[in-house]
Amino acid sequence: MENIKNYDIAILGAGPAGLTAGLYAGRGGLKAAIIEKMMPGGLVANTERIDNYPGFPEGISGYELAQRMEQQARKFGAEILSAQAESVSVENKYQLIKLSDGSTVKSRALIIATGAFPKTLGVPGEREFLGKGVSYCAVCDGAFFRNQPVAVLGGGDSAVQEAIYLAALTSKVTVIHRRDALRAADSIQKVAFANDKIEFAWSRDILAIEGSGQVSGVRVMDKQTLKEEIIPAAGVFIYVGYKPNSDLVKGIVRTDEQGYIITDDKMATSVPGIFACGDVRQKLVRQISGAVGDAATAAIAAQQYMEFND
Ligand code: NAP
Repeated sequence: MENIKNYDIAILGAGPAGLTAGLYAGRGGLKAAIIEKMMPGGLVANTERIDNYPGFPEGISGYELAQRMEQQARKFGAEILSAQAESVSVENKYQLIKLSDGSTVKSRALIIATGAFPKTLGVPGEREFLGKGVSYCAVCDGAFFRNQPVAVLGGGDSAVQEAIYLAALTSKVTVIHRRDALRAADSIQKVAFANDKIEFAWSRDILAIEGSGQVSGVRVMDKQTLKEEIIPAAGVFIYVGYKPNSDLVKGIVRTDEQGYIITDDKMATSVPGIFACGDVRQKLVRQISGAVGDAATAAIAAQQYMEFND
C-alpha cells in the first residue's frame, strides 16, 4: 500500500528560506514538513563568516546561523524529513511529493525553497580535477591547501569573500577575473585590496585548469595582450554565480529563461497553493536577510490561502 504522509504545508529545502518558512508555519499552528536531502542549512552552512545578517554585529559563522535556524524551526514543531524529493505533482487542491524512501508527502500548500547551486565554467580540467584541486566550497576544502598557492575564479561577492577566507590558510590567493573591475560589494573589495596575500589577475579569459593527477595551475589569456600564461595554484575555487534548483517543478510553475521561479509579492507562483522563496525565486538581490523575509511572507500567504480554500 502506498505510504502517504499528510501535512498542511510541505516545504522543499532546508536552507535559511525553508527553515524560516517552517518556523512561521509551525508557529502558525500548521503541520509542516521540511524536505531536505542533505544537512539542513543549505549553502549558508558552508560560509565561513556572515557579517551582514542583522543582530550579529560581530558576525556569525554560517554553520552556527544555520544550526540556530534549524533549532528554532524544530522548536515550533516543523518536522525535517531527510529524503530526496523525486517528483512533484498537483492533484485537485493537493500537492504530492514523492520521496526517495518510497513515501509520498501530501500537502495543502507547498513552499519551494530549494535555493541555487554553483555554476560550472565548462573549461577543460574542471571536471577532471574535481576533488583533486577543483572545488566550489572554500570552507569545505580550503584546509587541504594550507601554505600553498590557490586561485579563485570570479569577481562577485562569493569569489572575493572566499578569497579573503582562503588568504588566512594558504600562502597566496590569486583572484582571476574576466573584467578589470569587481562585481563584489565595495565593503568586501576594500578588505580584499588591503590583504597582501591576495593578488588580482584582471581581464583574463580562463582557458583550462591544468595539472597531472592534481591541479598545478590555471591557464589564462590576457584579454589585452592576448598572451597566455599559467597561474600556479594547487587549489582552484570556482565562484562564477549560481543556477536555480527548480528542475523538480519545471513545467509546473512559471519560471524565467534561467529557471528562476516567478512569484508575486505574496511569493505565490503561477499555480494556486504553490509558493516560492529565497534564491530559487526571480529577484534582484540574493541575501540571507532577503531569503528569510521572503519565507515569512510565503508561510503567512500559504496559511491565508488554506483558510480561504478549505
Ligand atoms: P555573481 O554575483 O553572479 O558573480 C559571479 C561572478 O563570476 C562575476 O564576477 C562574473 O563576472 C563571474 N563570471 C560569471 N560567469 C563567468 C564565466 N563564464 N567566466 C568567468 N567569470 C564568470 O555570483 P556570486 O558572487 O556567487 O553571488 C550570487 C548572489 O549572492 C549575489 O546576489 C550576491 O550579492 C549574493 N552574495 C552575497 C554575499 C554577501 O552579501 N556577503 C556573499 C555571497 C553571495 P562579471 O562580473 O564580469 O559578470
